[in-house]
Amino acid sequence: METVNILGVNVNKYTMDEAVKKATEFLETDKLSMIFTPNSEILLYASNNPNFAELLNQADMIIPDGIGVVYGAKILGEPIPERVAGFDLVCNLLPILAEKKKSIYLLGAKPGVAEMAAENLKEKYPDLVIAGTHDGYFKDDEEVIADINTANPDFLMVCLGFPKQEMWIYNNAHRINAKAAIGAGGCLDVFAGTVQRAPQFYCDHGIEWLYRLIKQPSRFGRMMALPKFGLKVLFKGRKYK
Ligand code: UDP
Repeated sequence: METVNILGVNVNKYTMDEAVKKATEFLETDKLSMIFTPNSEILLYASNNPNFAELLNQADMIIPDGIGVVYGAKILGEPIPERVAGFDLVCNLLPILAEKKKSIYLLGAKPGVAEMAAENLKEKYPDLVIAGTHDGYFKDDEEVIADINTANPDFLMVCLGFPKQEMWIYNNAHRINAKAAIGAGGCLDVFAGTVQRAPQFYCDHGIEWLYRLIKQPSRFGRMMALPKFGLKVLFKGRKYK
């Protein structure tokens, strides 16, 4: 099986290399492919909101963004090869986009952040074509979609936080001129430098959550999702199969 059902969501068992390959293939198709990047918080939410779980399952690729998801799969006896964080997937795709002269549109975060992210990405990847940017605090979908469609990007990053970003991509996929869209949470903040990503040590040891907790203690409530998720998978995980 290519997927493991974790609390109702079919997470792909791809390695990072396979996920990158798949995403690169999406760029050559005619329809918009949806990539979702759930962590344990998102999967816990999905388990309490079956409609959202069903929406996630419409994706063309669902990658395990957090270490909790990797452990969840292990608990269910269907291990996932490795964590495939949305941020890392995007980082691996950027040089490919640049090399193939494919363009990217950055949607989301507070006003000014996507522009700052664009500047930083352009500095790192001079060949990267940034088709456009827009902040994530808009009222009028039509205006944003018109801007994206005029820019006509190959790859669309949507960073509106969950569940907004997934719902926005799903609801508008049929009318967006792009080859692939990814729900990428706080990635634009990291590219812009307004939020620091955990140092490699924390990521390698499965404790990125600890770094984020130290840096942003206000996230404590949100982080309680991690143990709740673990317990739910342990005691109820098999019922979802
Ligand atoms: N955000 C947005 N529009 C909204 C709500 C949130 O653009 O209506 C942005 C927010 O500014 C942040 C991102 O969505 O840049 C979500 O970040 P968060 O840290 O919650 O994402 P995570 O990676 O933890 O899912």
